[in-house]
Amino acid sequence: MDLGFLLQSLIPSWNSVAVLAIYFAYLAVAGSILPGKLVPGVTLQDGSRLHYRCNGLLALVLLVGLLGIGSKMNFVSLTVISDRGLELLSATFIFSFLVMLVLYAAGCRSRSKGSSLKPHITGNLIHDWWYGVQLNPQFMGIDLKFFFVRAGMMGWLLINLSILAKSVQDGSLSLSMILYQLFCVLYILDYFVYEEYMTSTWDIIAERLGFMLVFGDLVWIPFTFSIQACTNGLDRKTLLVHCIVGWWLLNNKVELTKAAAIANCFVFLIGYLVFRGANKQKHIFKKNPKELIWGKPPKVIGGKLLASGYWGIARHSNYLGDLLLALSFSLPCGISSPIPYFYPIYLFILLVWRERRDEARCSEKYKDVWAEYCRLVPWRIFPYLY
Ligand code: NDP
Repeated sequence: MDLGFLLQSLIPSWNSVAVLAIYFAYLAVAGSILPGKLVPGVTLQDGSRLHYRCNGLLALVLLVGLLGIGSKMNFVSLTVISDRGLELLSATFIFSFLVMLVLYAAGCRSRSKGSSLKPHITGNLIHDWWYGVQLNPQFMGIDLKFFFVRAGMMGWLLINLSILAKSVQDGSLSLSMILYQLFCVLYILDYFVYEEYMTSTWDIIAERLGFMLVFGDLVWIPFTFSIQACTNGLDRKTLLVHCIVGWWLLNNKVELTKAAAIANCFVFLIGYLVFRGANKQKHIFKKNPKELIWGKPPKVIGGKLLASGYWGIARHSNYLGDLLLALSFSLPCGISSPIPYFYPIYLFILLVWRERRDEARCSEKYKDVWAEYCRLVPWRIFPYLY
C-alpha cells in the first residue's frame, strides 16, 4: 500500500470541506422547510415530548434529483465522492470531533432541568465524551440526533451511488455490484419510508448524543457500510481512495452463479420481512396495544410488553432481521475475503452488546413484567440458539 498516497489523500482539501458543508446545509434547510409528518417522540421523564418532522424521503429524492440535473448540466461530478473518498472521510471525522467538543462544552454549561437538555456529567471525562452529556441537544431548532442519523443514512446511499457511477464509467459493473446496490437502495429507501419508526428506537429515546453516536452516524455508517462496494470491481487506486486507513482491500472479481444470486435474494427478503415486520409490530403496539398482530389480538404482558408476533419468537427478532440483511449485503462479494463481511461482523458484535444493554434497561424499567416476558420468550435474538 502506498503510504505517502494514503496520507496525502487523508488531508481534506477545501473542495471536500465545501462538499460536506453544502451537504449539511442542504439537509438542514430541506429538513426545516420540506413538508413531512410531524411525529411526536416518546414521553420523556419530565413529561415533555419532542416532535420530529419525518421528511427524509422527500429530502433524499429531491437531493438525488438535483444531483442528477447538476450532473447533466456538467455542474456536479457524480464520482466526486468516490474520487475524494478518503478526504471526505477525514473531513467528516474532523467535523465529528469538533461537533463533539462543542456538544460537550454546551452540555456541561447547560443549566436546564428538563430531560432533554439536563447535563448528565459523571466526572469521568472519557465516559462523558464517549456517551455524551445531553439526551436531545438542539441547534437552531434542529434535533441533532435525528439530523445526524439522517445524514449518515443518506451519506451511505450517496457513497454507494457514486461508486456505482464510477464502476459504470470504468465499465466494471458486475452482477455482484448490482445486487449489492439494489439491496442497499431498498434498505435505505425503506428506512426513509418508515423514518417515523426511528422515533421509538433506543438511539433516539435512550442514548445521549456523544462521540459514539456522532461518529457512528456521520463516519461509521456511510464510510464502513459501503466497503463491499469498494471491494467490488474497482481498480486498486480507487479502492485505496475508498478504504479506511490500514485496511487491506481486495479487488475481487466475483463470478456469482444464478443459484447463489437467487439464494442471496432470499436472504435479503427474509431479513427484510423479519426486520421490518418486527419493528412495525412494536411501533404499532406502542401506538395502540389492541391492534391485531398477525390477524390475532396481541398477547400482552403486564399491559406493557408485546409477546406475540415476532416479539413472541425472540426478544429482539428485529436484530435477527437486521443481521440477515447485513449478511445479504456482503454475500454478493463471495467468500474469498473476509473484508466485505466487515459490516455483518461489526453489526453482530454491536447488536449482541446492545441487546445486553437494552435487556438491563428493560429489566430495571419493567421489573417483574420483564422477568415474565423472559420466561415466556426465552430467546434473545436467535430462536433455539441464543
Ligand atoms: P428496539 O427497537 O428493539 O428497541 C428496544 C426498546 O423497545 C426497549 O428498550 C423497550 O423500550 C422496547 N421493547 C422491547 N421489547 C419490547 C416488547 N416486547 N414489547 C414492547 N416494547 C418492547 O431496539 P433498537 O432501537 O436498538 O433497534 C431498532 C432497529 O434499528 C433494529 O431493527 C436494529 O436492528 C436497528 N439498528 C441498526 C443498527 C445498524 O448499525 N445497522 C444499529 C442499531 C440498531 P420501551 O422502554 O419504550 O418499552
